[in-house]
This record gives sequence, C-alpha cells and structure tokens, in this order.
Amino acid sequence: MPGILVYSEKHQVVRELLGKARQVADEKGMAVAAVYLGESVPEDLADLGAWGADTVYTVASPLLVGLNPETYTDALAGVIAEVKPELVLVGATKPGLEISARTAARLGAGVASFCVDFDFSAEGVVTAQCMIYSGVGINTYQIKTQPALATVAPAVFEAVKRDGSAVVTALDVSIRQPAMTILEYKEKAAAGVRWEDAPVIVDVGMGMSDKSHLGLAEELASLFEGQVACSRPVSSERDWFPEWLGLSGKKIHADLCITLGISGSIQHVVGIRDSKTIVAINSDENAGIFSQADYGVIADLHEFVPILVAALKARSAKLAR
Ligand SMILES: Cc1cc2nc3c(=O)[nH]c(=O)nc-3n(C[C@H](O)[C@H](O)[C@H](O)COP(=O)(O)OP(=O)(O)OC[C@H]3O[C@@H](n4cnc5c(N)ncnc54)[C@H](O)[C@@H]3O)c2cc1C
Repeated sequence: MPGILVYSEKHQVVRELLGKARQVADEKGMAVAAVYLGESVPEDLADLGAWGADTVYTVASPLLVGLNPETYTDALAGVIAEVKPELVLVGATKPGLEISARTAARLGAGVASFCVDFDFSAEGVVTAQCMIYSGVGINTYQIKTQPALATVAPAVFEAVKRDGSAVVTALDVSIRQPAMTILEYKEKAAAGVRWEDAPVIVDVGMGMSDKSHLGLAEELASLFEGQVACSRPVSSERDWFPEWLGLSGKKIHADLCITLGISGSIQHVVGIRDSKTIVAINSDENAGIFSQADYGVIADLHEFVPILVAALKARSAKLAR
C-alpha cells in the first residue's frame, strides 16, 4: 500500500509531486502512487514509473468530464478509501484546490494548502510547511488524520526522471450523478504565444502612464521575440490586457523578464520570480521590485525604454554588418 498518493489534472504537476514524494518515500521506506481520473485512460500511464510512481491507480467514467468537482471528489475519495495512503498530495491548481477541499471534508481529513515541504514523524504523523499570505510567511502544520492531504502549487517541487515503469491498476469506485452538470466547455482563444511559453516577457505595470506608450513595450519585446504581459491593475482597472501575471494570474518561467513600472508587490512577484533573469525599470529607488530583480535601473520608463530600444537596434545592426 502506498504511503504517498499524488493527484493533479496537470501532467507536469503530477511529475513534480512524484519527484518529491519519491524522495521522501525512499527515506521512509514507503511506496508512491499516482491517480489518473478521466473519461478514458491513456495508454502511456506506466511511464509515470520513470517519474517516481510504483503504481498508477486509474478511474475511468463518463461522469469524469470537465473537471466537475463533484464527480472528481467522488472518484478521488473512492481511490483514497481503497488505497489507504498516509499522505495525499494534490496539485494546487484552481480545480485541484476545490477537489482537495471537498475530498478532505468528505473523508474528515486534515488538508494543508500551498505546501512547500513535508515530512513524517517517527510515529508517521505528517508535518507540512505551507506558504501563507502569498509566500510572505511559512506556517508549519501537523496533520493527525489518516490520510492527511496537502496541496502543492505548480513548480514548487522538481520532477526527477529515472528508470522505471509503474504498475497500472484500474479501480472501480462509486461516482454519483452530479447535482451540477457542465453543459459546455469552451477553451479561451489564445492569441500568439502563451505568456507561460514565451522566453522573454516585458511586464508592464501601473507606472506606464498611458496606453499610447504600450507600443514602447511591444517594440522592446519584439527585439527579443518576446511577449508583453502586465500586472493585475493594468488588466483589471485599465483593461489593457485580458489577463495578468501573479498570484491570481499567470505564472511565467521566462529566460528574461523586464518589468516596466512594476512596484514589486508579493502578489505580482509570485508570477514572475521563476524567471531566470529579472530586470526592473522603476523611477522610485525604494521600489520593492529592486530587491527581487537581478538588474535594476532607476529611471522614468518613458525616457529609458526608447534609449534602450535604440541601443539594442544599433547593436543588432552592427552585428548584422
Ligand atoms: C488577494 C490579492 C491578489 C492579488 N493578485 C495579484 C496578481 O495576481 N497580480 C498582480 O499583479 N497583482 C495582484 N494583486 C495586486 C497587488 O497587490 C498590487 O496592487 C499590484 O501588483 C500593483 O501593480 P503595479 O506594480 O503595476 O502598480 P503599482 O503598485 O501602482 O506600482 C507602480 C510602480 O511604477 C513606478 N512608476 C511610476 N511611474 C513610473 C515611471 N514613469 N517610470 C518607471 N516607474 C514608474 C512606481 O514607482 C511604482 O513602483 C493582488 C492583490 C490582492 C489583495
């Protein structure tokens, strides 16, 4: 029976959860399993063995559509009841947070959210360290129920590839007709490269005084074949973009992120801090973003960016000669 069971609807998050679960399970002599829930079961699930799973438990049902939290809760709670793990790690995506909360309530189990580390005491009790206030602090929780549940945000743990193949076991668990039926599922139309996939992001904040200056950011981004993104108020208050970066928005892992007039609130930084290099341009030398950036420029962005663009263009022209 597995000590640690992992679930996420996102394949990459499953691999990340398995990476950490495998490490802890090896130290404690436990087994690790993953759960797959869906309308049908893909053929390649044994490959999760190469990411740390000993077993993959699957539940297939026509009721498992559209990530309906009611039916997914039935399925996950059913798997947990059969498998009896000591700890269940669930990806802290929007659906994952709802499904884990409902599952914990169903089982009368404790759930710790936004876990960044965990361990088992000698008696097998789970302790989980969890981010609070968007990462400003860390709380340590002890979860005495069995199972204990913990949610983990994407990109917190590292996926680690190894040799191995998992045993895939289909489970027959009871899933009720949901009270709420999803009538239609429409994927949002994506324009161009997704911010999450762009190697370079120019990140516009409220320090940009007027929409007419957005062309500056676009010109800068185009020199790197990058994308222009923004902070939440630039989207929610000014309506310049439909989405934003940060805690409640998209999270990027760019090679280079150039922030223009971004103050550096923790809620925003959560969305950009996994970028390899952060360059901040802000006119206030005390702006918090400078403590998060690899390079900082204290300047009015409206004056500095045209100079930067001109210098980059001159450099490209010189290299092309
Ligand atoms: C629960 C919750 C969730 C949130 N989630 C998010 C989220 O996901 N993403 C997000 O972005 N925010 C989020 N916020 C809002 C967040 O707290 C900040 O209010 C927001 O990030 C600030 O955006 P900003 O840096 O663009 O603007 P501001 O804080 O207004 O900063 C503007 C900056 O521009 C600088 N500036 C001004 N003029 C110039 C100039 N001419 N040249 C250069 N610099 C200049 C200023 O010095 C200042 O530092 C959330 C808030 C809450 C409460």
